[in-house]
Amino acid sequence: MPRCRVCGGNAEYWVPWANSWFCRDHFIEYFERRVWRTYEKYVPKRHRRVLFAVSGGKDSVALLHALAPRLRSSGVEASALFIDLGIGDYSRVAYRVASENADSLGIPLITVRLGDYGFTIDDVAGLAARKIIRRPVCSICGMVKRYLMNKVAFEEEFDLVLTGHTLNDSLAFATQNIYSGSGRELVKIRPYTPGRDGLVARGKPLLFIYEAETRWYTEALGVPVLRVKCPYTPIRKSVVVSLKRMLEDIDKRHPGYMAMAMRNIVDKLIPAVEASLPPERLVKCSRCGMPSSTDPCGFCRLRERIMRLKASPGSDQV
Ligand code: SF4
Ligand code: ZN
Ligand code: ZN
Repeated sequence: MPRCRVCGGNAEYWVPWANSWFCRDHFIEYFERRVWRTYEKYVPKRHRRVLFAVSGGKDSVALLHALAPRLRSSGVEASALFIDLGIGDYSRVAYRVASENADSLGIPLITVRLGDYGFTIDDVAGLAARKIIRRPVCSICGMVKRYLMNKVAFEEEFDLVLTGHTLNDSLAFATQNIYSGSGRELVKIRPYTPGRDGLVARGKPLLFIYEAETRWYTEALGVPVLRVKCPYTPIRKSVVVSLKRMLEDIDKRHPGYMAMAMRNIVDKLIPAVEASLPPERLVKCSRCGMPSSTDPCGFCRLRERIMRLKASPGSDQV
């Protein structure tokens, strides 16, 4: 029976990139310490009202449990945000999981419903299936989530939004942006983005955490996580998914490679790329007043077109 590196007791978790076995308690401690280290290293101390975006998935649930109690004990106000995207039963189950986790930690949960803006992701998917909307559903869904997250945080006067982006997806995106030469997109991967002009600061404390670790951590805690897949998860594998598999394969043979690569991208490459980019110009959306690179903003444009389509089907393309 393997022994825990810390206490010598029976170990349950083999962590290849740490070359270590841990018992349940010491794996939890190891995980939380690493999340806290990333937060401390990259997020300025001044943030006092923090909003955790919680989808119900294992990553956002892990982030909430690993960080919210610690932030609160250092005097920071922590709340959670659930965005009900209107994806049938999936959204209902996701809400239940998010609220159970927030309740168990005594953290207030703010819920925002896309349906209150007049449409849902089910509507978007229906229009996409009829080829009236050409853009992929997940791309629209991502834009909607980013918009609502920022809007709620701004209106409720939070000064930081934390999301559960983990290493595997983020490194695959970073690699894709390096290969395609998209400096502007590459920079967005960083673990902390300061707020400006109505955009609330963002943090990603799981950026150096492997996907497998959030699964082990939530299992070790025994907390509920969303186990059903969104019905709109793409079936066709994108280049980013292929890059992710490739990076995971390299990491299997060279444990720790992915974390090392992300560290170099964040600490060396992104600052150099950022310094070479002109500042992104932001305008105020004339419809909703939120900052955007276009007027109207992407969300208002989408919303207006869907409302128009609902009123007279076949009138437009999105
Ligand atoms: Fe949204 Fe796509 Fe994720 Fe479903 S799979 S929640 S549509 S981004
Ligand atoms: Zn131990
Ligand atoms: Zn707008």
